[in-house]
Amino acid sequence: MKFKRQPGDILKQLGIYEPEDIDLDLVAYSLNADVKRAALSDCEGNIIGTDEKAIITVNRDADPRRQRFSLGHELGHWVNDRGKNLTYRCDTIDMRQRSMSKNNFRQQKEVRANQFSAELIMPEHIFGRYLNNLDITTESVNYLANQFNVSRTSAAIRFVEVSDYPCMIVCWDKTGNRRWFTRNPIMPDSIWPYPRIIRPREAFALSNGVEVDADKWIDSKRSEDYSVIESVFSNGYDILSLIWWKDESHLTVC
Ligand SMILES: [Zn+2]
Repeated sequence: MKFKRQPGDILKQLGIYEPEDIDLDLVAYSLNADVKRAALSDCEGNIIGTDEKAIITVNRDADPRRQRFSLGHELGHWVNDRGKNLTYRCDTIDMRQRSMSKNNFRQQKEVRANQFSAELIMPEHIFGRYLNNLDITTESVNYLANQFNVSRTSAAIRFVEVSDYPCMIVCWDKTGNRRWFTRNPIMPDSIWPYPRIIRPREAFALSNGVEVDADKWIDSKRSEDYSVIESVFSNGYDILSLIWWKDESHLTVC
């Protein structure tokens, strides 16, 4: 995704190379943005900016990890969308927006702000180092979420984006409908999860690195012929299945 400045470069210029040093208030200060925390009833974060300076307000009543993501999101607007007058009020729907709609420019900006926030909080030059030798499991997601002080959903998405291994994260509502999914860049575009899981109660039993038939999740005639490693967890609202093709030769028979 194109940013006007890369989040990783902003951190490197500040000499930040460890997760505990990713202080978003410091990043905001370096970018000429003041940060306030206040009770906000209708949004998670907002920004008012001019050419030179911005004021960002984050909802102080939200979970601290949510506040952190919201601040990164507003910084995304500041870096990418600034102009003469910049005003955004961003709610939880904006902050979860992941799919680009071709003609909805506001939505495109929300998706970009979310990606900017994820890359600022989990920059490749630091996050990539932490992935070494980690199996693609719930346990690893929990470890990364704690190291980087982010939600498990954010950690899992970034894990899939940055990993060198073929994997996918799929988000389902509790009735079994697929909400969204993200593939690792080395995965073929032809591999899709089902749009709907028929027996969600059974499929959504929590797991951590268990080998299952690929046709439990993958919508393909060939998926009954091989297995994948699954980890299933909840984020409190939805169910996430993290799927790893441990045997990469199966990618060619999908
Ligand atoms: Zn926004």
